[in-house]
Amino acid sequence: MTERTADSEKISYQNKRGIDLLNNPRFNKGTAFTAEEKDQLGLRGLLPPRYIPIEEQLERVHENYGYKRTDLEKFIYLNGLLDRNETLYYRLLVENLEELMPIVYTPTVGLACQKYSRIFRRPRGLCISLKDRGRVDDLLANWPYQDIRIIVVTDGERILGLGDLGLNGMGIPVGKLSLYVAAGGIDPSMTLPVCLDVGTNNEELRNDPLYLGLNCERERGKAYDDLVDEFIHAVKARWPQCIIQFEDFGNTNAFRLLEKYRDAAPVLNDDIQGTGAVTLAGLLGALRITKQSLADQRIVFLGAGEAGIGIAEAIMTGLCDEGLTEEEAKQRFWHVDSKGLVTHARPGELAPHKLMFARDEAAIGTLGGVVEKVHPTVLLGVSGQPGLFNEMVVRTMTRQVERPIIFALSNPTSKAECTAEQAYTWSNGQAIFASGSPFDPVTLNGRFFRPGQGNNAYVFPGLGLGAIISGAKRITSSMFHEAAKALAGAVPDSLLEEVSVYPRQSDIQKVSIDIAIAVARETYKLGLNGVPEPDDLETFIKDWVWKPEYIPYV
Ligand code: NAD
Repeated sequence: MTERTADSEKISYQNKRGIDLLNNPRFNKGTAFTAEEKDQLGLRGLLPPRYIPIEEQLERVHENYGYKRTDLEKFIYLNGLLDRNETLYYRLLVENLEELMPIVYTPTVGLACQKYSRIFRRPRGLCISLKDRGRVDDLLANWPYQDIRIIVVTDGERILGLGDLGLNGMGIPVGKLSLYVAAGGIDPSMTLPVCLDVGTNNEELRNDPLYLGLNCERERGKAYDDLVDEFIHAVKARWPQCIIQFEDFGNTNAFRLLEKYRDAAPVLNDDIQGTGAVTLAGLLGALRITKQSLADQRIVFLGAGEAGIGIAEAIMTGLCDEGLTEEEAKQRFWHVDSKGLVTHARPGELAPHKLMFARDEAAIGTLGGVVEKVHPTVLLGVSGQPGLFNEMVVRTMTRQVERPIIFALSNPTSKAECTAEQAYTWSNGQAIFASGSPFDPVTLNGRFFRPGQGNNAYVFPGLGLGAIISGAKRITSSMFHEAAKALAGAVPDSLLEEVSVYPRQSDIQKVSIDIAIAVARETYKLGLNGVPEPDDLETFIKDWVWKPEYIPYV
């Protein structure tokens, strides 16, 4: 069974006392140390005399948080809390996930990454640079926790929609792992954020005297591959059960590294596979409304990057599950990128990830042209370009099909291919709309619509939890597929009536458990589990998850 060691470690506070204990965010309880604990741990006088339970501490920190005027100030405040008192930070996050997620993760984390070197206070995460080649294992050994089960690693090349941020990208693994903890219930001491510093081509950063990363051009050759390879092997040797999530790598490396390591270690790429699963879930939710099958769909993608290809692969798994061959499945996809329909006829070499879905037909230069010809039932926007689902495109689609499924997934909200209101208005209320970033509900002709947000945070925490629980030796497409089905199944009918295809964000923790169960079951079914299956998986998972509660000193 996947054992946890954290509790026993916590109860003894690793023999820390006095000011050392208060300065240790993992064990610090601040004003919540009892009088007896203050005596036993040398804390008397170092804290005010009153005992304040965590519920009252939460009130105080939430109020202080509310005093911060900008999102960046809120981000810095929360990081300060994490540096002081991990349990209180996570309790605040768990109890207010919907409110705090946009600060801890997208979109604010993007701004925080841009400013990372300037707002840097205390180290968080492991920086492994080109200069560490040959001694990566020594760096892993420096990490203070010994039982790491999940790593999120970036090389900072394509941070959200912000491009190359070099070492400043560290904020992303930190933020993502916060959500693994808060939404997936993974003990924070089992998580490790990593940034591989391989240089940056961001001139502005390199000219900034306060930039904390290597001041050199981004490495693209053998030295890069050697560093990644050494890192993967060092992790495998030190923590054989550890899941490694690649995050925000540039296109070429993202596809290449996933392909290179997916059969050798439990690796995943959330930008590709997580996006695929969350979008497939939304689509399955939409089909619960239209009462159709996936095989009935004609799907046009605007954007053929990591998200577009990841989604196509996920839907392909779904189609094959319905009995289609891969070739038959591909016939249901049309990818449009900045040059128009992706076809084999396009002059010049197509990137390998686009080649897989290129069509054998004449080129069409515009999205409007493709929609005219294909009569899509589903339109997926993953181009990062706002406004491309224009009135003409939406109205054409509405003329052709009864319930157009329109997902404008580009982030942040300002980059969405259309707004929720536009989709509902131009389709006369017929569209089933979802987005990547949040949109407020819309009332049109007296009807209430609650647009769903296809946030990857619905999938990755539960997927990670299921993989950890079962000790998954590999992360397969079928595990993502099971996660997508579990997510689609978790949407209550009341939300479908409001044309919302995702559950409420406040239910993410509950949904993560459903997903973890589905993923663990798939791991056992495939025989990829590294630990035996418990008799009662659901109870086991619920008991296993970490809860942000203070442990009394005994
Ligand atoms: P990417 O850079 O890998 O791919 C972008 C693609 O869009 C490329 O194929 C590019 O050719 C195409 N493109 C650019 N301009 C275009 C235009 N004018 N017309 C048509 N195509 C155009 O980026 P990505 O990782 O695939 O992400 C794309 C978008 O999807 C981003 O905005 C991202 O925020 C969003 N996204 C959303 C979710 C989600 O909702 N859960 C998850 C991941 C990514």
